[in-house]
Amino acid sequence: MHLSLFLKEHRQETPEIESFIFSSNQKINYQPGQFLRWNLPHQNPDNRGIWRYFTVSSSPAEGIIMLTTKFSTPSSTFKTTLHSLKIGQEITVEGPFGDFTYPDPTVKAVFIAGGIGITPFRSILTQLDLLGTNSPIIILYSNRNEEIPFKVLLDDISKRRKTIKIIYTVTEKDSRYKGETDKIDANFVKQYVPNYLSTGLLYYLSGPKPMVESIEKELIFLKISKQQIKKDFFPGYTEI
Ligand SMILES: Cc1cc2nc3c(=O)[nH]c(=O)nc-3n(C[C@H](O)[C@H](O)[C@H](O)COP(=O)(O)OP(=O)(O)OC[C@H]3O[C@@H](n4cnc5c(N)ncnc54)[C@H](O)[C@@H]3O)c2cc1C
Repeated sequence: MHLSLFLKEHRQETPEIESFIFSSNQKINYQPGQFLRWNLPHQNPDNRGIWRYFTVSSSPAEGIIMLTTKFSTPSSTFKTTLHSLKIGQEITVEGPFGDFTYPDPTVKAVFIAGGIGITPFRSILTQLDLLGTNSPIIILYSNRNEEIPFKVLLDDISKRRKTIKIIYTVTEKDSRYKGETDKIDANFVKQYVPNYLSTGLLYYLSGPKPMVESIEKELIFLKISKQQIKKDFFPGYTEI
């Protein structure tokens, strides 16, 4: 289904990461964690073309549609055009698509995110929070530096909802940083996930493809079954 969205607001989340908030004339029935195909025709597109898949980083309970993305230098022509959108301008989307969702809020889950890979988890967690659901979730969130997207929001949710725990790790060397700095691997999971081998646990992995593939290998090394692992790849990024 083709739908029109209109830019309402633009938010700088970190120096590199921005959110674009849209309103819609029609209701988009999506599940937290799903994505849309975003179409943005523009002049002289580069070889990456005029559409992209982006997760809806907002949740249905928020009543908006939000896209959150990272800008590099140089950016693709798609992202350059996205960045220059004016308030009120239209973008069309198709979807929703995907099964990277958390349909049963009683299931124990470990959400593992790398950088911008937090977007589906932001959607799922804000939905649970706004509906007042206390789900048993541990979030392991790896970032290159201390500019951590949605940290204030995630800290607030985990402070109020005692069943939701979050562990950050910042992997770029900075001696001033006093928190966790290890990359997420088998030992990290063993350290922070009690009963990590429990067959009732679901592991959700989201981030750049190389990171997701490497963490999946680590989980399999720990003898976690493939059936317990759900993945969301973000092509186009090689690092967090
Ligand atoms: C299901 C799904 C969900 C996704 N959700 C999200 C999401 O929520 N947020 C998100 O940010 N992404 C998401 N992605 C990834 C997204 O679709 C893009 O692939 C990604 O953002 C990269 O965008 P870009 O190609 O516009 O490149 P940019 O982000 O502009 O650039 C990425 C890298 O490529 C280089 N580069 C840029 N243009 C070119 C070029 N023409 N040729 C060679 N190199 C170039 C840049 O220097 C940079 O190193 C998702 C993907 C999928 C499949």
